[in-house]
Amino acid sequence: MALKGLDIFKLLPKTNCKKCGSPTCMAFAMKVAQGGIELGKCPDISADALAQLSEASAPPMKSITIGAGDREYKLGGETVLFRHDKTFVSKSLYAVSVCPGCVDEKLPEIKAIDYERIGERMIVDIINVEFSGDKAAFLDTVKKAEGVGRTLILDVTDADAAKEAVELVKAGKPILNGANESNWEAFNKIASDAGIVLGVGGKDLDGLYDTVQKLEAAGNKNLILDVGSASAKDAFANAVQIRRAALKDGDRGCGYPAIVNVAKLSDDPLQQLALASVFTLKYGSIIILSGMSYAQALPLFGLRQNIYTDPQKPMKMEPKIYPINGADENAVCAITVDFALTYFVVNGELERSGVPVNFIIADAGGYSVLTSWAAGKFSAGTITKFFKEADIEGKVKNRTLILPGKVAVLKGELEESLPGWKVLVGPNEAVGLVKYLKELK
Ligand code: SF4
Repeated sequence: MALKGLDIFKLLPKTNCKKCGSPTCMAFAMKVAQGGIELGKCPDISADALAQLSEASAPPMKSITIGAGDREYKLGGETVLFRHDKTFVSKSLYAVSVCPGCVDEKLPEIKAIDYERIGERMIVDIINVEFSGDKAAFLDTVKKAEGVGRTLILDVTDADAAKEAVELVKAGKPILNGANESNWEAFNKIASDAGIVLGVGGKDLDGLYDTVQKLEAAGNKNLILDVGSASAKDAFANAVQIRRAALKDGDRGCGYPAIVNVAKLSDDPLQQLALASVFTLKYGSIIILSGMSYAQALPLFGLRQNIYTDPQKPMKMEPKIYPINGADENAVCAITVDFALTYFVVNGELERSGVPVNFIIADAGGYSVLTSWAAGKFSAGTITKFFKEADIEGKVKNRTLILPGKVAVLKGELEESLPGWKVLVGPNEAVGLVKYLKELK
């Protein structure tokens, strides 16, 4: 349960010495309660008080790390049930399940999903390797899956097979998913010895909870919870109940990220896609599908990108010149705002035109063209200021600047504040740029 400022204040030295950077102990306590500063910033807090408060102020949901190198991911660490309350922090990861009989067919499909959207690379993040009873075939499949260079889930309840598979791939920090009421001790040892995350399941939510309690008592808090596959309804209810218990009731036994295997909930790829969308919203940290085509990836990854952005922070591009189609200093200039969606839409059309353009992204607070213009963040004054700060005139020789058509009103003022520049009014919509640039050329 989140601590209140007063609870924290009671355990502080109350000397108002300001060493923590806050004017008073009460101000410091309030900041700690809001998560704005760490308790350790008070150098005079007693060890006892620090221990008491650290335990009580720890986040209700643990953050765990899986994978290694450039395929390392953080999961969990969420603080709110609804994105509009604040933000979700650790995006859902998508996995595709492989088995000995299908691995050769599926691995090329997994590798084929690889594209960029709004600056983010979209790939199948994880490969889930299923154990079907044949240890040799399982180990062979694990080796093949590892060759793709993705983080793995070892989906196995047989301790012997689990141990050998973990030995093969433990450097890549896979998840060992298969601990349950009957095998948790052996699985706890395998996962703890390898320093990897242990996936815990159960015949029902009570069984899962009891096993988590036993694992925690044994010192393992590096866990992820499998919400089960009895039915879509049960899996959904479990996912919601686990998250609510952790965040609303402060039940730390439920304070772990969740795995949802939608491949076990439906055989129909479209229904799996629908379920994956549901669990992206409610509360699948890892969602396993039986396959991934572009038709599935495009809506799913797009949804995830929308959900896992901070609504309090506009998606911004770095303000600077982006040369398009091999533009050099003599290429014509086009300007727009730093809102990422605007950038990617306009950038796509500029590329499509084939015309070399110095695409200038101005610092406009991360808002769209009309919003930033209305807010005074994309005006002749701000553009001129940005041109000076970014030394645009030192970087390009061409003095033709294309404005977005929606802010044609800036043309006259801009020509006055940027002497020597010829300001042209571009089309209202990005889609008109291809024709516009070809005619201009
Ligand atoms: S450093 Fe500690 S004792 Fe000093 S003002 Fe801050 S909270 Fe109070």
